[in-house]
Amino acid sequence: MQEFIKMCEECNPGEIEFLQAVTEVAESVKPVLDKHPEYRAAKLLERMVEPERTIMFRIPWVDDRGDVQINKGYRIEMNSAIGPYKGGLRFHPSVNLSILKFLAFEQTYKNALTTLPMGGAKGGANFDPKGKSDNEVMRFCHSFMFEMFRHLGPNTDVPAGDIGVGPREIGYLFGMYKKLRNEFTGVLTGKGIEWGGSLIRPEATGYGTIYFAAEMLATKGETLEGKTCLISGSGNVAQYAVEKVLELGGKVVTLSDSLGYIYDESGIDKEKLDYVMYLKNVERGRIKEYAEKYPDAVYTPIDSSLNYNPLWNHKADCAFPCATQNEINAQDAANLIANGVKVVSEGANMPTVPEGINIFLENKTLYAPGKASNAGGVSISGLEMTQNSLRLTWTGEEVDNYLKRIMKNIHRVCISAADEYGTPGNYVNGANIAGFIKVAKAMMAQGIV
Ligand code: NAP
Repeated sequence: MQEFIKMCEECNPGEIEFLQAVTEVAESVKPVLDKHPEYRAAKLLERMVEPERTIMFRIPWVDDRGDVQINKGYRIEMNSAIGPYKGGLRFHPSVNLSILKFLAFEQTYKNALTTLPMGGAKGGANFDPKGKSDNEVMRFCHSFMFEMFRHLGPNTDVPAGDIGVGPREIGYLFGMYKKLRNEFTGVLTGKGIEWGGSLIRPEATGYGTIYFAAEMLATKGETLEGKTCLISGSGNVAQYAVEKVLELGGKVVTLSDSLGYIYDESGIDKEKLDYVMYLKNVERGRIKEYAEKYPDAVYTPIDSSLNYNPLWNHKADCAFPCATQNEINAQDAANLIANGVKVVSEGANMPTVPEGINIFLENKTLYAPGKASNAGGVSISGLEMTQNSLRLTWTGEEVDNYLKRIMKNIHRVCISAADEYGTPGNYVNGANIAGFIKVAKAMMAQGIV
């Protein structure tokens, strides 16, 4: 395995996040490769770390002052062994090849865990929608799609949202795709309900993350009732994670954005959550404003001189990181344990650094990696594709029941794969192994392609 990691480092120099994601999966699936020498001989892992296709392109657009702006656009079509490429688009200044390759790699196994026929992909641009007018965002999205459309199709590649890409961006992207292709197909998911979207899609990732936590707690005979929860982020995933925790009787005391976090000891209730949704989705404001509206809450700006994030340093029972990658470092993991946290279910992708994961595993924390616990979003995206193909719309209740069943099933599959390969209760190994085996079987059946 050392040799394999070394080869990856040489082939993907400086791609820190991608190498981090690959190393974790490679370590988990080693026993599977030992048991199946035919997978080694077919160089499955070596093929899985090489994207089937990497698309990089220029996105020129004109801002409101009339100045020309240029951004970098990407789509990583990682693996199509079990279905069309599927994965979100991220618009954030930090976007680069390494981040999108790590996300596309993770997406491949996540999509396999959903049991739906979806391959893995991810894309985006180093564009920051924050501070841009709606017209600027529209012109940018249209320019992005001018290039991207030729690579997409309902049976080829179906993107969705991610950080910085919500209903507004999906609308502009879809509008241009439809115009260029002169056809109305379900080629993006996360669409508005009036034009092909699925009920519960906006809620699905956040709800699914909490359903997964509830499944983990149930293995100990416990529920979320009365539990105090720390949540990071305040975007799509975080908002609906709060909503589901409240529904299940828990209390949420934190939310954050890239500038800082709020701590509200009395809990973020439904009315306060409605305000957060308005603040973030309509006003596009900062979480700091929460503490201005609710003065009992304390706002703490990011302090980059600290070696830990104070958000993770409050007494709590559960933690749901829902912002971004590597937001929980080893010190944060240790602080969470010291503060009594017994459950960590990741809404974000790869929010915990490897040393942090080890701390959770050593302390027998009920720890769910994002590729299992946040798979609810892509699952309902898969069901949005199904409804588009059927030209039907299911009720919210039907879709939510599917979501619950899918999350329960992912939990069960992770537990049984972890058991089978000798690491009971280790959801990291369980998720990596179960996802890997499904993709591996498909790749073996399809030969060297
Ligand atoms: P979003 O609506 O854009 O919200 C992202 C939130 O995270 C915002 O509060 C943002 O703060 C914060 N954030 C972003 N980058 C950050 C950084 N570098 N440092 C600190 N905070 C940062 O995005 P989202 O859809 O909720 O996605 C959140 C996470 O969930 C991501 O890891 C994403 O990959 C993962 N995920 C999303 C879905 C989905 O269906 N949306 C599905 C699976 C996984 P600012 O507003 O200040 O930027």
